[in-house]
This record gives sequence, C-alpha cells and structure tokens, in this order.
Amino acid sequence: MTKYKVEHEIEECIGCGACAAISSNWEMVDVDGEEKSQILKSEINDSELEDNKQAAESCPVAIIHITNLDTDEKII
Ligand code: SF4
Repeated sequence: MTKYKVEHEIEECIGCGACAAISSNWEMVDVDGEEKSQILKSEINDSELEDNKQAAESCPVAIIHITNLDTDEKII
C-alpha cells in the first residue's frame, strides 16, 4: 500500500478552518493566541489520500502539501 506524507507551512496558516472542515485528519488549535491548523497523522495511506487532497485543494493560501513516499512524486 502506498504511503503519503502530509505537511503544511504552519507559519503561513491563516486559520480559516477549511482543511479541518473537510478532513478529519486536520484540527484547529490555538498557537500563541492565533488559530492554526494541525495535522493529526502526517503519514497516510491510499484510503486517506482523497480527503487530505481535498483539504489541500481547499486551502486558500496553498500551504498543504502531499508527497508520495514511494516515488517522491509531489501530489499537491
Ligand atoms: S485551509 Fe490552509 S489556511 Fe485554512 S486552516 Fe487549513 S492550512 Fe490553514
């Protein structure tokens, strides 16, 4: 089964909550008084790819990235 790495540039997160509304792999947390998103599982499998991809596509500042760990291909 293919594995994927999920990352985000947290310092650029504007706290809109779109990723957390779409995917249960994301939650909103308070970081020094600012709302930021947090990844629950940074390594996911095929069955978890679609909703994380949708979360990435929904991000207005495009800071969520997914990489195929088998091939190093950047998915988004
Ligand atoms: S969608 Fe992007 S900007 Fe919005 S909370 Fe998630 S990571 Fe942050």
